[in-house]
Amino acid sequence: MRMWCPRCASLRQRETLSTPEPGLQSPGRCHRSLTQQFASACLRRECSCTLLLTMKKTDIAPFFATLREANPHPKTELEYTSDFELLTAVLLSAQATDVGVNKATRKLFPVANTPQAILDLGIEGLESYIKTIGLYRSKAKHLMETCRILVQRHDSKVPHTRQELEALPGVGRKTANVVLNVAFGQPTMAVDTHIFRVSNRTGLAPGKTPLEVEKQLLKRVPAEFAVDSHHWLILLGRYVCQARKPRCWECLVTPYCDFQPKSEAPKSSK
Ligand code: SF4
Repeated sequence: MRMWCPRCASLRQRETLSTPEPGLQSPGRCHRSLTQQFASACLRRECSCTLLLTMKKTDIAPFFATLREANPHPKTELEYTSDFELLTAVLLSAQATDVGVNKATRKLFPVANTPQAILDLGIEGLESYIKTIGLYRSKAKHLMETCRILVQRHDSKVPHTRQELEALPGVGRKTANVVLNVAFGQPTMAVDTHIFRVSNRTGLAPGKTPLEVEKQLLKRVPAEFAVDSHHWLILLGRYVCQARKPRCWECLVTPYCDFQPKSEAPKSSK
């Protein structure tokens, strides 16, 4: 059974009657003035309204300009010194934290940081370095196979195209996007759990799947911010706009974010 919160239900009724609600700039902004109770229901996705809230176009540039001012040269938190190390770290980072991956690669890379050196370790040797990372057995298998292909078809180099990257075992769209962006400076959007949440919560690029969010970001983020934007969004999601409770009281982009109601500082930290 489809259920809408009363606010969305009333908006839809008004739309059917073609009567625009006073004060609404577009149907996508229907959550702006929700009461606290209904806003929470909507933002927890208990309401099945399909009108996702969307940040005003004019707010997008100041949103990123604010993040850029605070951190002009954002970087991935994965540690690497070459394209191959980056590819390896990203491949290992699926469903794992950057901190956990760095801990493992700090021991692995001094011993083996080329496709041939990883092949020379053998599968068991490789597993012994990465066994602290989740899903390490399948990741080791994929990495060995990827190294074999890099040696045989790419002269041990990391390829520059999405098609060639996604043809490597263990490399999906997100991994390819990270490598294309970080190693080769392409304006790709690697939508991870943080970017997915922040894009929807703020209204920057609403979408029901990572691919939908990626397409929205590619369309909506101004060119001058495109290359670095995915780093800013990851860092915002990781440290401020956290899943359980966004830290709106100390967030720099509060004026541009559509999330309502903004969360307040815990009493002890006021
Ligand atoms: S204001 Fe709150 S919801 Fe919006 S981006 Fe900042 S922390 Fe997230």
